[in-house]
Amino acid sequence: MTDSKQILVTGGAGYIGSHTCVALLEVGYQVVIYDNLSNSHEEVIHRIKKITGKNLTFVKGDIRDKDALKECLANYPCDAVIHFAGLKAVGESVEQPLKYFDNNLVGSLRLLEAMQESNIKTIVFSSSATVYGNPVYLPFDEKHPLAPTNPYGQTKLYIEEILKDIFKSASDWQICILRYFNPVGAHESGLIGEDPQGVPNNLMPFIAQVAVGKRDTLNIWGRDYDTIDGTGVRDYIHVTDLAEGHIRALEYLKDSSKLLVANLGTGKGSSVLQVLNAFEQAVKTTIPHAFKNRRPGDVAEAYANTFIANSLLKWKAKKDLNSMCRDHWHWQQKNPNGYNPK
Ligand code: NAD
Ligand code: UDP
Repeated sequence: MTDSKQILVTGGAGYIGSHTCVALLEVGYQVVIYDNLSNSHEEVIHRIKKITGKNLTFVKGDIRDKDALKECLANYPCDAVIHFAGLKAVGESVEQPLKYFDNNLVGSLRLLEAMQESNIKTIVFSSSATVYGNPVYLPFDEKHPLAPTNPYGQTKLYIEEILKDIFKSASDWQICILRYFNPVGAHESGLIGEDPQGVPNNLMPFIAQVAVGKRDTLNIWGRDYDTIDGTGVRDYIHVTDLAEGHIRALEYLKDSSKLLVANLGTGKGSSVLQVLNAFEQAVKTTIPHAFKNRRPGDVAEAYANTFIANSLLKWKAKKDLNSMCRDHWHWQQKNPNGYNPK
């Protein structure tokens, strides 16, 4: 990238957002983070600056507050938006669907209105493989039927539909919808990483907390799936590879109006036992675990067809499961309590 464009990054203090801000700054973009810190810490901003040696703007605000968004865009004119801000806990979304529709869906509507009124028409949106629901076939390609099985996934699908309708009505928009598979790992510096609040739902942060002694045992949900070793298979992707995908998306959108939907995954599935094994190698010790019944709602396998991202975004995940585990462990070891010093 040669011209210095400024990007508004909603949710930029979060896990994927912070790694993407590092990637943006490193290739010469200017960054404005807009985040209400509902699931992140201001310390992240300092860490991003420390890694990159570059400055950035942080505005504390909520995406549901259109006036605040417009003020932010007036103060810091941006060429494009990368929209990460949202709530992401599947279980919580089942218990409190209205909270998810309000935060994710209403928030995205307000953001899109603010963009339109500020004449910004380029957006990269964080969607999720959750929009596919139960696999009709694998690997999931972007034409696979969309049938999310929980309110969180529904919010992602509705936002995707809204973006598609905007493009139909005004084809001068430049829109890239990225469907992430399972982001894991951390920046190799160990300065930024995933900092789940409470008991982690996801596999890798849970393993990391057992490894560091915060939890006793990993429960493996199911060993009777029709998979390589009976445990569930997912497409884990290193968060810095994922971050790079956003840079490629901005480059892809740069020249002309278009709408693209692309999976971001490695295309390769790994079982729970394979992940556990790789993590044990990173930690160089065994990690206590126990086999339990299947987790309700889980599918046996999920992995991506990455043809569109490979061919159109010219993007391919580079890092393997061992690097994902090594970097995740490095972050966990350096920050046993995440960003919280206590
Ligand atoms: P995260 O919770 O670490 O980051 C989200 C950020 O958005 C947080 O910093 C939070 O404070 C902020 N935020 C939430 N609601 C907001 C609001 N109303 N206004 C302003 N800021 C708000 O999550 P993440 O893992 O970095 O995920 C980023 C995006 O990617 C989310 O939209 C998520 O749904 C999507 N995604 C994540 C995964 C995953 O496994 N991590 C997978 C697929 C898709
Ligand atoms: N899993 C597990 N124990 C845990 C968390 C997850 O066995 O404590 C399994 C889960 O059943 C699935 C895989 O690990 O097969 C990935 O789960 P995660 O929640 O990380 O991702 P998702 O299922 O949402 O893709």
